[in-house]
Amino acid sequence: MTYIAADGRYDGLQPYNRVGKSGLKLPAVSLGLWHNFGDDRPFDTQRSILRRAFDLGVTHFDLANNYGPPYGSAETNFGRHFREDFARYRDELVISTKAGYDMWPGPYGEWGSRKYLLSSLDQSLKRMGLDYIDIFYSHRFDPDTPLEETMGALDHAVRSGRALYAGISSYSPEHTAEAARILREMGTPLLIHQPSYSMLNRWIEGGLLDVLEEEGVGCIAFSPLAQGMLTDRYLDGVPEGSRASLGHFLTPEMLTEESMRHVRTLNEIARRRGQSLAQMALAWALRDRRVTSVLIGASSVRQLEDSLGAVGGLSFTDEELEAIDKDAVE
Ligand code: NDP
Repeated sequence: MTYIAADGRYDGLQPYNRVGKSGLKLPAVSLGLWHNFGDDRPFDTQRSILRRAFDLGVTHFDLANNYGPPYGSAETNFGRHFREDFARYRDELVISTKAGYDMWPGPYGEWGSRKYLLSSLDQSLKRMGLDYIDIFYSHRFDPDTPLEETMGALDHAVRSGRALYAGISSYSPEHTAEAARILREMGTPLLIHQPSYSMLNRWIEGGLLDVLEEEGVGCIAFSPLAQGMLTDRYLDGVPEGSRASLGHFLTPEMLTEESMRHVRTLNEIARRRGQSLAQMALAWALRDRRVTSVLIGASSVRQLEDSLGAVGGLSFTDEELEAIDKDAVE
């Protein structure tokens, strides 16, 4: 059936935060297609998740060349969803993709050369059937390619009209400052950094957020639910079909007794706040105004709805923050 987006999708369901010092705003919660949108997942489920997200004010979908499985299939599937459901809403959407990790065999299929980045971007545009990407990312820093070359490829992507904005992912604070300087000199400002960040992984507090603030660059935090650990998903064991059960990046061995004890304590704090653990984890990652958006994954509409409910309780008391921190350092 033809999809018509919900009328009330901008009626306060999602706050929209400015990305650094740019003119662009992103929803507080954005949706990523790393897992759950490859050929291994039913197309209908994917469609329901994407439609519901947009109906609830999520205007940003994040992809990468190799999301799947197999590589490329999340972009191909998204291309079909886009054609069937979202083409008429193109100007209401921010769609991002990335290149950096292994995508095709041979010396030009990964890392940060101009050769790889620009051919990968052309492939992504083709798979998704898009004229342009909103944000194109260098997915990881390449120690063997001059940063000028990698940033030059992002600058060219923007100047040639293939992308509107440039981003980087998982760069150290030092490399981020350098990338921002190079791009500024080229006349294409660095829009955004995409690092991992959650209550279980706070590395960006050690300098990266300060660099981003200084440079006027936004921050979109990936895996803010620690791939599902910061939810009720594993409180009673490892359910069949869950990410940990499949051993894709999250493995049952990572759910140690100690980490699950920690998760249970956090769950108790969330319960006292009247939130699910997922909602508290997302609100927590958004408590620093330098974090523009949190980038979640969802394998069902139920999970998506639960997570988006985070925006109903974004504030924390000092006592709650202390309790969360106390638990983190113990
Ligand atoms: P999350 O930390 O949000 O984990 C998502 C998973 O958690 C879901 O697949 C689901 O697991 C579980 N989950 C989500 N919501 C709930 C809920 N409310 N209740 C219970 N369980 C829930 O993020 P991801 O690790 O999926 O990453 C999100 C996005 O970030 C990616 O799609 C991608 O766009 C980006 N990313 C970028 C990277 C980079 O290098 N730049 C690296 C990794 C991610 P289950 O599948 O078991 O149901």
